[in-house]
Formats: sequence, structure tokens, C-alpha cells
Amino acid sequence: MTTPDFVVDNVDNIAAPVTRFAPSPTGLLHRGHAFSAVTAWRLARANGGRFILRIEDIDTTRCRPEFEAAILEDLAWLGLDWDGPVWRQSERTAVYRAALDQLVALGVAYPCFCTRADIAAAVAAPHGPEGPAYPGTCRHLSADERARRLASETPAWRLD
Ligand SMILES: [Zn+2]
Repeated sequence: MTTPDFVVDNVDNIAAPVTRFAPSPTGLLHRGHAFSAVTAWRLARANGGRFILRIEDIDTTRCRPEFEAAILEDLAWLGLDWDGPVWRQSERTAVYRAALDQLVALGVAYPCFCTRADIAAAVAAPHGPEGPAYPGTCRHLSADERARRLASETPAWRLD
């Protein structure tokens, strides 16, 4: 197996890179995960950068603490370390809320009240490789309609 060259030395404006590995604790790591983690770690370490471990634990129905523990054990077995604490998405909702509020204030995000079934049923919905794509149904709701629905429904937020 050849070892890729991880040193970035031909780009003037790249400072120390920050890479990350972001597994979901919904199961055990497989070799693909290990390769991704090692690659990101080596890229950071070879260039004086930082390597972040971010646990994608917001799917509360599927994530389990024993899988997170297994991930940490496997990374240690691989000899990988990370900079700073382990980030858990579930502990960062205030950060995401602040970013969303900023996008809404900039007028580049809008609430969407569609269900997955609504989107799948939309005749005009173009279909991508992973299924139906969002047809933009809620993009043009009036301000009154948005306000009325926001009072009683929890939307998804989409970039306009
Ligand atoms: Zn919608």
C-alpha cells in the first residue's frame, strides 16, 4: 500500500488545516471509518493543524453510549489523538441556533413545513440519486402564512 503525501506545501494561503472525524454512535466503526479518521488525523498532523473529534449524536433513537465508547476505544487503538474535548452535536444546539438565527436575520433561510411524504408526493419534485429533492414548496409562503404556521408547527429550515 502506498502512503499518500499528506503535506500541503504548494498552496500559499492554507494555514494550519483543521480536520475532523465525525462518526455517529449508531454502530461500530468499520474499516472505511478508520481510513477516514487516519486520513484526517494525518493531514492535520503533517501540516501543523488540528484534528477534531465530533460525535454526531443527535439521532437520539439510534445513538447509544456504548457505541461512542467503542469509537473512542477504536481511535485509541489506532493511535489517534484529537485536539480539545470531544465535541458532541447534542451539546452544541445553542451554537447551531445562533447560526440559524443569523441566517434568518440575513433573509437567506426560510421555514419549511413539508413532511417527507409531502415532498415525495410532489409531482414536480425532481428526483436526485437519494430520492426526491425538495421542490421549494414553502419558499414563497406569505409572511402571514409563515407566522400562522410557526405559531403551531415546528419547521425545518432551508437555505434560500
Ligand atoms: Zn416546505
